[in-house]
Amino acid sequence: MEIAVGMVGGGPGSFIGETHRHALRYDGRFKLQAGAFTRSVETNDEFGETLGIDAARRYGSWRDLLAEEVRRDDGIEAVIIATPNDTHHEIAAAALDAGLHVMCDKPVAVSLRQALDLRDRQRRSGRVFALTHNYTGYAMVRQAREMVRDGALGEIRIVQVEFAQGWASAPLEQSGHKQAEWRMDPVRVGPSAVLMDLGTHAHHLMRFVTGCEVEALCTDLRSFVPGRATNDDAHLLMRLTGGASGQLWASMVANGNGHGLRLRVYGDAGSLAWKQEIPNRLIYRREGEPDQVLSKGNDYLSETSRAASRVGGGHPGGFIEAFANLYREFADAIEASKRGETSADGPWLFPTVDDGVAGLAFVEAAIRSHQDSGNWISLNGEGDT
Ligand code: NAD
Repeated sequence: MEIAVGMVGGGPGSFIGETHRHALRYDGRFKLQAGAFTRSVETNDEFGETLGIDAARRYGSWRDLLAEEVRRDDGIEAVIIATPNDTHHEIAAAALDAGLHVMCDKPVAVSLRQALDLRDRQRRSGRVFALTHNYTGYAMVRQAREMVRDGALGEIRIVQVEFAQGWASAPLEQSGHKQAEWRMDPVRVGPSAVLMDLGTHAHHLMRFVTGCEVEALCTDLRSFVPGRATNDDAHLLMRLTGGASGQLWASMVANGNGHGLRLRVYGDAGSLAWKQEIPNRLIYRREGEPDQVLSKGNDYLSETSRAASRVGGGHPGGFIEAFANLYREFADAIEASKRGETSADGPWLFPTVDDGVAGLAFVEAAIRSHQDSGNWISLNGEGDT
């Protein structure tokens, strides 16, 4: 039986809405039955029709969607949130309180306080909360995680992670660019555009693969584009649990860079390198030996990695498949919760509200360091359960 879902945001022309819709359909586990895709009643109605949503279930606002859907016998069981950052907290909080599962786009909220509140509500409700740090759905990212856990790198010494894009090298927000308009508005994006938009993804990818948490950091934030109201570039040094050193670069002004997410991990026995623009390959190197290029879908990979490969070896898998892996596990977790098991008992790899809390603790510490002239700031287990 498909799980009925409703979507908030992700309207026509939105960046990430269509990806969510492809991903939720990928395994036939969900059916999109309701939506408040935009704030305009008319657009929402027209758009809902193109998606085959029943007229009665195309809502003028997310509040109406929640209120009406919980009254229906065939009402939705989960909400997908694909709106700008400043709305995530109130929508997710109301959805959890209404007893719905949540698939929320990142970052989970615009402050650590809001993120902690969502974590409390998730715990009280017992509902499943997934957060789309979707890069962790790639087969070769999962392979990298397994290799680190199996000791292929030995003790981790150095982590280099970067998410450097160039799309906002010009002041797009001043000429009505849809995505730039809210992303460069500190009220809507949160305390630092580059850290909220890209830094949280890089931070999560590093934690997912290495298992290392940030113990302390120092930060240099910049706003290169004249007139920009928020940061568009961030350089951080990090001290990580287990004694490793880390460096994170996030940028929206790396002129000419496309979607430059990249991770390199060096241990005392070997190293790994992965790039999201060539996602099906993982490079494994050991000093004095030839480089190994591991490719998605092959039998020599871990079971977890092979399970995340949706098309045969040699065929490229991409962004949608990685996203679909999170949706498949979200469906598994919802089914498990219906059987009375808690989502924490499952073998789920999707990011959760706890990862959202870690992300906001990281962002707020980074900003404190910057404001303190780039001095080292200790995270002191901020956001820990
Ligand atoms: P966007 O501006 O392209 O689209 C936002 C959509 O939400 C629009 O359709 C808008 O009409 C709608 N919307 C805004 N407020 C609403 C409300 N109150 N009720 C209903 N609909 C509303 O933004 P985007 O780039 O798609 O980003 C949306 C979210 O997804 C952000 O939080 C962003 O950080 C995240 N995102 C994640 C990824 C990823 O890889 N996981 C990629 C891009 C964006």
